[in-house]
Amino acid sequence: MMSAMKKYLLVIVVAVLGCIVLLVGGSLDNDPLKSAGVVLVLSTLVLEIIFLRCPNCRRWLGRKFRPGKHCPHCGEIIE
Ligand SMILES: [Zn+2]
Repeated sequence: MMSAMKKYLLVIVVAVLGCIVLLVGGSLDNDPLKSAGVVLVLSTLVLEIIFLRCPNCRRWLGRKFRPGKHCPHCGEIIE
C-alpha cells in the first residue's frame, strides 16, 4: 500500500515527465513524442482521481489537496 505522499509524488513525476516529453516532441516536431506527452499529461488527471482519495471515507480529496492535511469530508489526517 503506497502512502498518500508517494502517490502524490508519482502524479507530479508523471506530470513533469509528460511536460518534458511534450516540449521535446514539440521542439523536434515529432508527432509520436507529442502524442506520448499528451497521453502522459492526461493520465495525470486520471491518476489524481484514482490516487487522491481519503482512505477513511473514500471520497476524492480534490485537486488542491496536499498530503499531511485533513480530509475535507471526514477530517481524517492523510499521511
Ligand atoms: Zn475522508
